[in-house]
Amino acid sequence: MIPLERLGQRSGLRLGIMGGTFDPIHIGHLVTAEEALLQFELDEIVFMPTGQPPHKSSQVASPEARYMMASVATATNPRFWVSRLEIDDAGVDYTVDTLDRLRAACRPDAELFFITGADAVLDILTWKEPDRLLGLCEVIAATRPGYDLGRLAGVLADLAHKENVHVMEIPALAVSSSMIRERLAQGKSVRYLVTEGVAALIAKSDSYGLQASLGRNGHDLGSG
Ligand code: NAP
Repeated sequence: MIPLERLGQRSGLRLGIMGGTFDPIHIGHLVTAEEALLQFELDEIVFMPTGQPPHKSSQVASPEARYMMASVATATNPRFWVSRLEIDDAGVDYTVDTLDRLRAACRPDAELFFITGADAVLDILTWKEPDRLLGLCEVIAATRPGYDLGRLAGVLADLAHKENVHVMEIPALAVSSSMIRERLAQGKSVRYLVTEGVAALIAKSDSYGLQASLGRNGHDLGSG
């Protein structure tokens, strides 16, 4: 849980917000957050698992399971936090509303950096109040090397504050949540693609249908 009160008191805070479904959280997300921390000289990163994403009717794992996996994955990093802000909100969560709430909790001189995947940012024109959103924060769009940046530039062309969008190449983003879900469905190993704690949580839970398809005992996520 993030101590927003404590963060809110800090002057000159540079706060990263990792927005995503995290279904499940994997090493690509963790490397992205660490790289953003270094490249943009951030003080702390808050992982913000979506509750009910505006653009999706359902995910595979429940919001609570995704929150728990994010908490376990980030536990050992003293500058990584996980927020329940969107998870606990019964309604649809729009990023601009989340940023409003975080900004209200921080001092006026705080700087917010919203970090997410470049493919998600490609749809930013369909998000709620994209112009105002880009006035509230800097957006860091994470991609794997070789990504076609032309499309993103085209999407951003008419937005005010488009200079507030930064692209960050992360080789570890060759890993994706969908790849991990596919491997799990095929009974393949996800060792080293997710942290050990997340692998253990997946093995113990019903989040990805493992219990139903493989039986309650004996499934080794590290084999195969
Ligand atoms: P998505 O469409 O599931 O993901 C698009 C791509 O971005 C995927 O390749 C995904 O990889 C990657 N990605 C997602 N989050 C990432 C992160 N933090 N770091 C690196 N790569 C990331 O997108 P989503 O996860 O549902 O949504 C992303 C964020 O945008 C969320 O915070 C969501 O609330 C926000 N959003 C807001 C609105 C709105 O306000 N109207 C609309 C859409 C999205 P993985 O699958 O491996 O993560």
